[in-house]
Amino acid sequence: MGRPKFGQIARVDLICRQCGIPFSKPLSQADRPFHKVACYRAYQDDPQRFHEKVLRPEGELVCWPHTAKVGADGYVAISIGAQLTKAHRHAWVLASGAPIPHGLLIGHICDNRICTRNDGPLGTYELNGRLLPRYGHLFLGTDDDNNEDKEMKQRGNHPKGEAHGIAKLRTEDVLEIRRLYATTSIAQWELGEQFDVSQGIVSKIIRRVLWAHVR
Ligand SMILES: [Zn+2]
Ligand SMILES: [Zn+2]
Repeated sequence: MGRPKFGQIARVDLICRQCGIPFSKPLSQADRPFHKVACYRAYQDDPQRFHEKVLRPEGELVCWPHTAKVGADGYVAISIGAQLTKAHRHAWVLASGAPIPHGLLIGHICDNRICTRNDGPLGTYELNGRLLPRYGHLFLGTDDDNNEDKEMKQRGNHPKGEAHGIAKLRTEDVLEIRRLYATTSIAQWELGEQFDVSQGIVSKIIRRVLWAHVR
């Protein structure tokens, strides 16, 4: 490619990041190295792209936070192809392999809005006697389910879920929660996040309302 003549738009030679085809593009668009829109969308839609932006610390109970910028609503907004969505909703779509049914929402068992923990197999989350579908820390429900879930958590009544931390806390976790609270300045809610239980549960563990038998 020769030097652009006066009045010509400078172009740059690129290799399509999705398909590897060499092509050229106006210099001003060099930040999108895709030779056509379909390649850009395919790249964005690739689950691998999404996975690269999620932290997966070791541990059965821990959250998998998405690392992109958190929005004013506390969720991570992402674009998948031409569509704007939220990271936890996309995590559900990847796990279930199907779009979220119209009008339903994805709630967080862990109350952590940036969490995208979506590991299978498909499980359940029990809310007031109803069983909602669950992958990892995410559950599928209605707006009412979500509000009910929030109210119960605020009252410190945790619904039961197979994956929920309460049933899964081991004796060592209980001892560790008490030790950390006694010996560091960690807050109860931080302990809750670390062990994937609510602040209410942490408080009850510390006050020995729960696991009183564990010394
Ligand atoms: Zn391409
Ligand atoms: Zn989580």
